[in-house]
Amino acid sequence: MRVWAGAVRAAVRAGSGLGEFRERFDFGGRDVASWFPGHMAKGLRQMRASLRRADCLIEVHDARIPLSGRNPELQEVLGIRPHILVLNKMDLADPHRQLTTLEHLKQQGCSHVVFTDCQHDGNVKKSNEYSILVIGVPNVGKSSLINSLRRLHLKKGKATAVGGEPGVTKAVLTRIQVCEKPLMYLVDTPGVLPPRLKDVETGIKLAVCGAIHDHLVGEDIMADYLLYALNKHQQFEYVQRYGLAKACNDIETLLRHVALAQGQVQKVKVLTGTGDVNVKMLNYTAAAYQFLRDFRAGCLGRVTLD
Ligand code: GDP
Repeated sequence: MRVWAGAVRAAVRAGSGLGEFRERFDFGGRDVASWFPGHMAKGLRQMRASLRRADCLIEVHDARIPLSGRNPELQEVLGIRPHILVLNKMDLADPHRQLTTLEHLKQQGCSHVVFTDCQHDGNVKKSNEYSILVIGVPNVGKSSLINSLRRLHLKKGKATAVGGEPGVTKAVLTRIQVCEKPLMYLVDTPGVLPPRLKDVETGIKLAVCGAIHDHLVGEDIMADYLLYALNKHQQFEYVQRYGLAKACNDIETLLRHVALAQGQVQKVKVLTGTGDVNVKMLNYTAAAYQFLRDFRAGCLGRVTLD
């Protein structure tokens, strides 16, 4: 499969000429301030109290954005405790970038890093700590990690709800036992975004990975950024998936192919001289969501956006 992907990549690159791709993304003066929902401020306050009681912290983050979007306020608090950074969804990130990522994180003072894939329990390492607070931005897999550890150690099912939408875990939960010997509890927390995102690009990367609600950012710019990022990282699996002749730089062209490939059309009423006529038009919004969904499900290849 990887050999095939490599061959397609090389062929697509040869056909398109890499020089055509955008070297920068135009964010059009967007402001990230509006992407920080109110309930997260409350979550942060609640967590400060739990932080004081915890023996150890597990910070879960998305392996596709290992450097972007971690909460600097939490990092300050984390400095005083044993702190493990779990980079989850490793199955969706570029495996060749793991070493560079670890080096970057070490330079930032973060040396206990574990890559996990909570959809396949074999990739969750055993831990021997006691009372552990699980923190991280929304939708990175905190609840999935807790459920995986419960399955692994106690052979029990779900204790905490897993959701594909950011913000499923809204209140700090009680302790969840994940192991008997040693007795070990994890505390799930609501995902909290940094109150001030570093820049618009950080916000869009978080949104593309599902940590910020799509409607706050806008599916059009997210899809456009995703196309820019796929090209930049030379990940061209979208070309074959949507039946394009070669890699492209233009989001409208791509979305037209997505809509055609997935049959995404909408009926639109058009007024003519002889009365109303229903015409079928391609649904670009639905196509943009499909493109994002395909990326999140790993159908467009493994990509590390940072
Ligand atoms: P939380 O908001 O951080 O608690 O995240 P959840 O545990 O609710 O997971 C968010 C979404 O990511 C769900 O749709 C999970 O099925 C999915 N997910 C969690 N872990 C993984 C993983 O390791 N790999 C992949 N591909 N998906 C995952």
